[in-house]
Amino acid sequence: MTFATPSPSTGAASRPAAWRGVIDAYRSFLPVSTATPLVTLLEGNTPLIYSKVLSQRLGEPFHVYLKFEGLNPTGSFKDRGMTLAISKAVESGARAVLCASTGNTSASASAYAAKANLRSLVLIPRGAIALGKLSQALIHGARVVAVDGNFDVCLQLVRAMAQQHPITLVNSINPFRIEGQKTCAFEVCDVLGRAPDFHLIPVGNAGNITAHWKGYREYHRGGRIASLPVMLGFQARGAAPIVSGRVVKVPKTIATAIRIGNPASWQSALQARDESGGRIDAVSDRQILEAYQLLAQHDGLFVEPASAASVAGLLALARGGYFRRDLKRRGRRLKDPALLVCTLTGHGLKDPERALKSIRPPRTLPPQIEAISKAVGLR
Ligand SMILES: *Cc1c(COP(=O)(O)O)cnc(C)c1O
Repeated sequence: MTFATPSPSTGAASRPAAWRGVIDAYRSFLPVSTATPLVTLLEGNTPLIYSKVLSQRLGEPFHVYLKFEGLNPTGSFKDRGMTLAISKAVESGARAVLCASTGNTSASASAYAAKANLRSLVLIPRGAIALGKLSQALIHGARVVAVDGNFDVCLQLVRAMAQQHPITLVNSINPFRIEGQKTCAFEVCDVLGRAPDFHLIPVGNAGNITAHWKGYREYHRGGRIASLPVMLGFQARGAAPIVSGRVVKVPKTIATAIRIGNPASWQSALQARDESGGRIDAVSDRQILEAYQLLAQHDGLFVEPASAASVAGLLALARGGYFRRDLKRRGRRLKDPALLVCTLTGHGLKDPERALKSIRPPRTLPPQIEAISKAVGLR
């Protein structure tokens, strides 16, 4: 049996030998100058992993790659945007930063603020963020307030607070967040040696789909890639305002990172969808949890539930024959490999309670080899 990965052609070897974070790597594409202090935890440079099981599910000519953003310093892609948002905040003389968060933004903001010696203030929806994320914000020294309201309420509050106080808002409405996050698309192209044909991504506040599309367009304009991917975004069915075209007052899903009813980057997500000829669809919690377990049990990747939305979407579209139809429509020969990339946005260790709820807990037995062997299927 072979586990070899079809090797994508290597991109231009323009990277320095030691990785120094996304600002250093992509300086010429980012709004920084020599006067910008560099606040980095060496985020980015995350692996792009070939998925044999997903490629086989789709069949030839499709090759599926997983961009595992859970390996960023605080365990999610938010670090890509936060290194820039915090560096720019320091450059502008800020003393404190503020965010509303479903968890990962606060984990990232508090870590980068700690590194930069800034105060961080965080509003979270009460009882609605995963334990790992809350523990991160607290241990990094953020002032955390749990608000009796959902994420959308928290975002409204911090927007108003940032107007009343000299404090920098680091939610993705801060344009530097989007700028930093677009480096994920750059890395994908650098590794594949071209743009993928399809890029699949979970959608919550819709900053990340916006950032990826911006990254691809800028690489295209800069002559680094010859084509652009189709952008495919996925919301959770109980929190799918972009799919339904209506604000969701009480968003519901087990995928807390995308439990958002009124996305800040709604319009730019529609733009990414329409300019790329893509779609934004809804996937059910059940589909999300199936993909979550499939990634863990066949690809060895432990992601958080929201991250699995991209793979849930991949499987749903594949079942409906979408990818084959789309290639045909565009006149692509079926023997060329078609490259698909799913962004896996965050690490599964953020939310261990979800894993324990999804799988039967271990049995407790007396220390007797016969009983134990039988219980684990050895005879
Ligand atoms: C923030 C986040 C998302 C959603 O990204 P948006 O930019 O808000 O669309 C998805 N998954 C994880 C793990 C996140 O932290």
